[in-house]
Amino acid sequence: MTENFAAFAYLISSVLFIMALRGLSSPETARSGNIFGIVGMVIAVATTLATPGVVSYWMILLGILIGGAIGTFIAWKIEMTSLPELVAAFHSLVGLAAVCVAAAAFFEPAAYGIGTPGNIGVASLIEMSIGTAIGAITFTGSIIAFAKLQGVMSGAPIVFPGQHALNALLGLLMIALVVWFCDAQTGTLFWAIAILAFIIGVLIIIPIGGADMPVVISMLNSYSGWAACGIGFTLSNMALIVTGALVGSSGAILSYIMCKGMNRSFFNVILGGFGGETAGPSEDLGDRTVRSGSAEDAAFILKNAGSVIIVPGYGMAVAQAQHALREMADLLKKEGIRVRYAIHPVAGRMPGHMNVLLAEANVPYDEVEELEEINRDFASTDVSFVIGANDVTNPAAKTDPQSAIYGMPVLNVEEAGTVLFVKRSLGSGYAGIDNPLFYRDNTMMLFADAKAMCEDIVKALE
Ligand code: NDP
Repeated sequence: MTENFAAFAYLISSVLFIMALRGLSSPETARSGNIFGIVGMVIAVATTLATPGVVSYWMILLGILIGGAIGTFIAWKIEMTSLPELVAAFHSLVGLAAVCVAAAAFFEPAAYGIGTPGNIGVASLIEMSIGTAIGAITFTGSIIAFAKLQGVMSGAPIVFPGQHALNALLGLLMIALVVWFCDAQTGTLFWAIAILAFIIGVLIIIPIGGADMPVVISMLNSYSGWAACGIGFTLSNMALIVTGALVGSSGAILSYIMCKGMNRSFFNVILGGFGGETAGPSEDLGDRTVRSGSAEDAAFILKNAGSVIIVPGYGMAVAQAQHALREMADLLKKEGIRVRYAIHPVAGRMPGHMNVLLAEANVPYDEVEELEEINRDFASTDVSFVIGANDVTNPAAKTDPQSAIYGMPVLNVEEAGTVLFVKRSLGSGYAGIDNPLFYRDNTMMLFADAKAMCEDIVKALE
């Protein structure tokens, strides 16, 4: 394949990746977006395989078979609720791959056409040292994020005196090492950069608390993109440069959107120390009387409502209640009741989690509304039906400056005439804080598994 043709094919795949991102920005077009992405990737991989530089096809095939088999197995087994951990684990591999490619390029520069050992151009050295540093930070940072999400280590922030000063010092040391490496070109300095970056990766993620993990995951996603972009320069591969830059910038934009969703500044999140698991009740909960009801009670209240807003959360995903929920909504609509769904930007455990589940259950897109669109309507709604959501409704975010989630916009479910809360207990959600809504006069708790409760309400409605 000629160089010109390869450049043209890479250009087409890059355009397809951009169309994929555009498609993925809305549930209606997400499927076609995925197809654009797959076609773009097939073109990019086929073009790379057809370039003359390939030394051994069977090694590549072996790699595809082993990696593909492991990937397929994991995708098959993984629970929807564990996707954030999976994404973190996969990001760590992207980071490690960037370090490995940079090491190969540094120790065998002739194979990459970037000079001979000890005689590599400064531009290539800068590219590979930056690729190594970002890749290594992504590797260990993602492992810590994985361990926190999986519960292997505590999700609480790990902080110690002088932490920020130490991180700043190590950052400066990294810059000094990169400058020295570009001058001296020794293997020892290459590994020194990698090891220092591994340590920095651990240090920048440990102070970040559980509630901030969504932002961290998308930030690491962005890092892995920039690491791939750096490697694209080392390999002179245009597709990798463009794809890496797309992943890097879209991850950064997503991090920004999520920070906005939680009303936090990006630096506030990165500097950490927020969102532990151990925060206690966040406000005076009075005499803590709880009113609980049955599926029949819920069916009666719902049937007599004129409008209902359903607020799904992580518990709906755990129970896989979305199909039973839609069946319940269909019956209510048949009775002439207006039914809508309110989606909080960080409901569930990954961005878009609730949208994916509702789409899977064929909930019409026009019934699904974002927080800003629907929040004012709770006051004129008869029933808020909160199913497996907790933190995203917690009014402590509005009223209690001591609360770990203070400042995060929340859904104003309590403004509706009646709030029905489907969950199994009075237990807390991800941020580990009590929810004063459970004890309010207009709340009725429906203690049950979310799917079982929806099925029972459907029976009662019928
Ligand atoms: P929460 O984690 O606040 O609450 C979920 C609730 O679901 C729990 O209180 C639990 O109560 C209930 N639940 C669990 N299993 C079931 C079941 N089988 N049936 C019924 N209820 C069940 O979820 P939210 O969606 O409200 O909030 C998301 C939280 O996760 C936020 O704090 C957010 O910051 C964080 N987060 C979000 C990510 C994202 O990208 N969206 C990623 C990582 C974290 P009980 O045990 O009593 O049943």
